[in-house]
Amino acid sequence: MERLRGYQLLPLELTTGRLRRSLISVALSALMLFQPRIAAAWGNEGHTYVNRVAAQKMPLSMPLFLRRAVVEIEYLGPEPDRWRSPSELALKNSQEPDHFIDLERVSWLDSLPPTRYEFYRKLYEKRAATSDHPDDYLPERVGLQPYITMEVYGRLKSAFRDYRQLRAAHQPTDAVQQAIIFYAGWLGHYVADASQPLHTSIQYNGWVGPNPSLYTTEHHIHGQFESEYVRANIAAKDFASLVKAPERLNDPFADYIAYLKTSNSLVEKVYELEKAGGLTGKGTPEAFEFTTHRLAAGSQMLLNLWYTAWLESAMPVPEHGPARPAAPPPIPPRK
Ligand SMILES: [Zn+2]
Repeated sequence: MERLRGYQLLPLELTTGRLRRSLISVALSALMLFQPRIAAAWGNEGHTYVNRVAAQKMPLSMPLFLRRAVVEIEYLGPEPDRWRSPSELALKNSQEPDHFIDLERVSWLDSLPPTRYEFYRKLYEKRAATSDHPDDYLPERVGLQPYITMEVYGRLKSAFRDYRQLRAAHQPTDAVQQAIIFYAGWLGHYVADASQPLHTSIQYNGWVGPNPSLYTTEHHIHGQFESEYVRANIAAKDFASLVKAPERLNDPFADYIAYLKTSNSLVEKVYELEKAGGLTGKGTPEAFEFTTHRLAAGSQMLLNLWYTAWLESAMPVPEHGPARPAAPPPIPPRK
């Protein structure tokens, strides 16, 4: 089911009738043809809740226009999942790896490099040195989740800086406010994805490899946990009280990687819950406790990132950026 999550992309107004059924059937057939790794994470409900709770917890020190944009920010929670339609093939293809990272595939790296293309370079080197399933190290197979997150975080911080400058210059800020709301909401999607343990792992939808605990190998657990279980059993109010005032992050990238690793350490817990029937129907108190805490972790990290971006946007921009990385090998001239 997890590979078919694209059905959520259909316009909401097409809720009845033959047109909707035929569109769903076309969309599903197309998705099955491509068979990419599609993982929505938390479904519409979970993404909406994570964004809403974080927006409601913004401190008074953050701009009023943003604190008032709860409805817009919660709408944007599922936004990147609306970019999975086969009718926008280039978009769908380019953004799918943004939703996950299989941390087991990069355990050989001492630390993840802070920039996207350095990460690509290390993965291609590993691929070239690997004879067994080398394509498992393609960036799009490993996943790019922390990179898109930091890139959207950078957009938000940059827009906050522009907002401060325009205000200081007594210029209109309406347009930059719209940009800030969009970036803040968009960021929420990836931060929430990363709180879902199965978005950080090769075990993303059915156990693979040695399986002494006899966890499910069916390709169902992903959607069952993040969509079906959440939709049936959890509301935003169930975890709102777990989200505290934001903290400024010392090193957003390092803190975000630590957050991803915590999520990855909980992968087996999801399988244990599934095995015990905790994700079926009304589930169990243990499943409720676990899931509300993961959703709260997502909202908390999102709030921390917004807050940190806001504070850092007041800092002067260094006159000289960091030195360029060492030049890559020369590319032969084009013929
Ligand atoms: Zn996602």
